[in-house]
Amino acid sequence: MEKKLALHGGSPVITEPFPVFQSQGKEELEAATEVIKRGTLSSFIGSWGDHFYGGKEVRELEEAWRRYFDVKYAISVNSATSALIAAMGALDLEPGDEVIVSPWTMCATATAVLVWNAIPIFADIEPETFNLDPVSVEKNISDRTRAILVTDIFGHSANVDVLRRIADKHKLKLIEDSSQSPGAMHGGKYVGTNSDVGIFSLNYHKHIQTGEGGVCVTNDKTLAERMQLIRNHAEAVVEDKGEKNLANMVGFNFRMGEIEAAMAKEQLKKLKAIADSRIKAADRLTAGLAGLKGLSLPVVKSTDTHVYYMYPLILDEKATGVSRKKIVEALKAEGVPSISEGYVNVHRYPMYQKKIAYGTKGFPWTHGVSRDGISYEKGICPVAERMHDKQFFKIHLCAHTFDNKQVDLVIEAFKKVWANLNSIKG
Ligand SMILES: *Cc1c(COP(=O)(O)O)cnc(C)c1O
Repeated sequence: MEKKLALHGGSPVITEPFPVFQSQGKEELEAATEVIKRGTLSSFIGSWGDHFYGGKEVRELEEAWRRYFDVKYAISVNSATSALIAAMGALDLEPGDEVIVSPWTMCATATAVLVWNAIPIFADIEPETFNLDPVSVEKNISDRTRAILVTDIFGHSANVDVLRRIADKHKLKLIEDSSQSPGAMHGGKYVGTNSDVGIFSLNYHKHIQTGEGGVCVTNDKTLAERMQLIRNHAEAVVEDKGEKNLANMVGFNFRMGEIEAAMAKEQLKKLKAIADSRIKAADRLTAGLAGLKGLSLPVVKSTDTHVYYMYPLILDEKATGVSRKKIVEALKAEGVPSISEGYVNVHRYPMYQKKIAYGTKGFPWTHGVSRDGISYEKGICPVAERMHDKQFFKIHLCAHTFDNKQVDLVIEAFKKVWANLNSIKG
């Protein structure tokens, strides 16, 4: 296998594009068609009454979701971003209150906190699962902290058992952004159900999808009712509903349409098969890539299953003598699809660096609203920063069909690059 690298003019290992992953089939087509034939594309009404909770498909989806995940309440919304905003709103945060979040997540996790004029505080991540490190979380708790909003990144649960103990000790809520991890298990329960509220995405990038969409799950009646209010124009409803708690009763239109709900019911039935196919591909990849010098493969804790929204990798440049950039370039040249360097350091986005979210004066980090001395400086999350800048790369396993054939080609491409490390050194 000492053939010349494609990067240097050799022939690439992968010559045909991998099939784009497609979860939609005749089931979704029929479900959507039925709704269109009925002609009722949404039944929500933003005032108190039976239609406050949406139409037939929305309710059936919520019932199916509730049963599948074995929770008391499932609340459909139009995106996981909306779900996050609704969940944060349900906590009655005061402006300037703090919520601990991961820097290693999609920006919306932290933005949902800012929407309520509360302050995201970034704790560092564990290098094994890339999820919030409980030690760093506890260090970041202040007298303004109200909740921990943990992300279950890439398909593996965060350390919710330890985080639960920390949350209980400090009287905080624990909320889970499980957008990337539907179907993964932790301690025998579905990821997303081991906290006060779990959040799922049905965006087209995710395991199961309806183009756009999201679902919140909870066992807490009060939180469920508050999220339902925020989903559907709370301020117009509270009086007739007899709602006494007016905290955060700014409502939105976060409602899901009947077509998406009908499709989501079908997608949910496919979740296990889709998750299993990702696990199968990842396990084969992990077996095939084992032993490559300087390459760390995904960690799956003994209490967990990993559903691999992404297949995470860590490179030790000292061991390979080759930069991450060069290696990813070489793998791309061999035809490996959907592979890229780094992930996200949310705290380093300009909004946090400049501390301006609303207006021009720095609200809500302004004096008198939030605690003084909140820092988003580079250095506050050393593991997340090192991973993003130097060590981490990933294959976006959700983007393509990875059958044995495709997986074996990816393994061959890695082995070829590793056999030729000397030619890309320096
Ligand atoms: C995709 C994603 C979101 C946002 O989901 P949308 O449904 O697109 O709003 C939030 N958090 C994480 C971790 C995600 O991966």
